[in-house]
Amino acid sequence: MAKCSVCGGPAVAFIRYQKRYLCRDHYIQFVEDKVRRAIKRYKMAGKGDRILVALSGGKDSTTLLGALSAVRDDIGFELVAVHIDLGIFDYSVKSREAARRLAQSLDVPLIEVPLKEVIGATIPELAKKSRRPACSVCGMIKRYVTNAAAVELEADAVALGHNADDLAVYNLKSFLTQDLEAISKLGPRTDSVEEAAVGRIRPLYLVYEKESFLYSFLRGLPFLHEECPFVDNRQMEVRLKEVVNQLEEERPGTKLQMVTKLALRIKDYPKPRGEIRRCRVCGLISSSEVCSFCRTTERALGKAMGPAVREYIRRKGVELGLIPRVKNTATG
Ligand SMILES: [Zn+2]
Ligand SMILES: [Zn+2]
Repeated sequence: MAKCSVCGGPAVAFIRYQKRYLCRDHYIQFVEDKVRRAIKRYKMAGKGDRILVALSGGKDSTTLLGALSAVRDDIGFELVAVHIDLGIFDYSVKSREAARRLAQSLDVPLIEVPLKEVIGATIPELAKKSRRPACSVCGMIKRYVTNAAAVELEADAVALGHNADDLAVYNLKSFLTQDLEAISKLGPRTDSVEEAAVGRIRPLYLVYEKESFLYSFLRGLPFLHEECPFVDNRQMEVRLKEVVNQLEEERPGTKLQMVTKLALRIKDYPKPRGEIRRCRVCGLISSSEVCSFCRTTERALGKAMGPAVREYIRRKGVELGLIPRVKNTATG
């Protein structure tokens, strides 16, 4: 049996691009070191910051919250989590259970936003009423609610669970379609827009998808293995993923090179044009007069629900003692 290159204990994995075997403990440490390094190198978070994680109950956000909770004391940031109950049948019930158990075991305060209760409709209902594909409605809702929670809780950043594989594939896809503005959003972090949008960070920037999965598995973190019943595996992305995996196979470390080079050149890509506005109804970031969340809910449900979402999160935040925010200004 192979031995850990660090301690000589039984190895659980071989890191091809480093030609190293690692045991369970050193594997966990290896992933957490990557997260710590990415946070510092790309200035994602510092002492006293409040980081919000949108916890879906799936593999990526589970690894994200697990790894962030492991490094939070070293760096000195605070974690809060939000879980959106999408109302997608049994899948959402199980997701909520996984999210609850995880947040509790890692001692991270969790705000749950049950869509049915807060806006009066689930994702399947909203998709049907707005005559749009469930995945596109769902993506928009998740982005909106997560940003609303970050603004209400005065978070300094929203942490996203994208790993190196995701970013390599998105990058390649955007390059092939010459969507250079899309590439400009694939860096390790984006900036905040005061009181309207909270900046995003990607702490798993240097972590491979396989590593993310094995990390959660080895730590025994509870996550849902099932995929959403609405999952749409876009053909082009599936093919590009195969290509990137093939390149990695031939030249170990390719994915890591792709994302670190992307991070170096990210500023050279054009940012999306058009002014940044605030939604007339809810006050959060929008590309037009009324944001797409308020527009969609107005059309489908007869009422723009942005203000109700903000109000709900604010109330929960107060109940959990997260609002008003007390900044940790202690030094040392
Ligand atoms: Zn070891
Ligand atoms: Zn709005």
